Amino acid sequence: MEIKLLAFDSFGVRSMSTFIQTRDVIVHIDPAVSLAPRRYNLPPHRREVERLIECAREIERHARDADIIIVTHYHYDHHDPGKLIPVDIYKNKIVYIKDPKNRINKSQMQRASRFLSLIKDIAREIKVAERQEIKIGSTLIKISDAVPHGVNDRLGYVVEVSIRDDEKKVLYTSDVEGPPLEEQVKFIIEEKPDILILDGPMTYMLGFRYSKKALEASMNNIRKIVDSGVKTIVIDHHFMRDLKYRERLADVYKYSEEKGTKMISAAEFMNRPIEMLEAMRDKLYQEENAPGVIPDNVREILEE
Ligand SMILES: [Zn+2]
Ligand SMILES: [Zn+2]
Repeated sequence: MEIKLLAFDSFGVRSMSTFIQTRDVIVHIDPAVSLAPRRYNLPPHRREVERLIECAREIERHARDADIIIVTHYHYDHHDPGKLIPVDIYKNKIVYIKDPKNRINKSQMQRASRFLSLIKDIAREIKVAERQEIKIGSTLIKISDAVPHGVNDRLGYVVEVSIRDDEKKVLYTSDVEGPPLEEQVKFIIEEKPDILILDGPMTYMLGFRYSKKALEASMNNIRKIVDSGVKTIVIDHHFMRDLKYRERLADVYKYSEEKGTKMISAAEFMNRPIEMLEAMRDKLYQEENAPGVIPDNVREILEE
């Protein structure tokens, strides 16, 4: 199995775009990328916009090779309605999408309907992702039931994806923000992957949109995941928007090290430098006062 993490917050963009190739099938999860429209009350810096475009091209190039594309929910860092990445990446693909009608909030339901109208005539097949089990040769893809996007369902729901071949098993949590909830952890513990690609706690919003209680619950849950025998945890996305990320989870880093579980960012997994451009945005502007040039049609998919 080859796992390529194509775009993550530790690369300087908002995304968890993941490309997995086994002997039997090529799967691309969430082929999309975005940026924070405002951080420190500043718009994206030139360097962030350049990285956004680079990542979009890389995602597009890989998505064209995929047999199956999975969309875990309808935020613009996980699906793109043809703004940065053309919708023809879905041409002739089998597409598994988060259920657009059930366990979904209003805004995501609207986006899902628009997205479906864009891909319905070009995709080979479109299926609801929840609870699917797909066997192709010696590869097994399992998708979870819908779980809340974070501590509650205000932001809607996501699906988690587990893929195994005869070498290893990898599990992608999508936006669980921690995970703070039992129902988000259940699928992980049941599947017991070798490699977990985890959306970690949203500590850059600690005390505002992310409570101390949610952080503590998430820390307990990550310890449980370590105890279950997961060998590598790639912790990224919301978590890598906080320059103090290591201090925030100091106890958990220590615990996982003692237990022999590697806890690293997506950048480290891919052997590239950690470049938390969003979290460094104020410093980037101090070095060079250069806002990025964002085309009008792309502006729509930049979101909080
Ligand atoms: Zn999301
Ligand atoms: Zn996301």
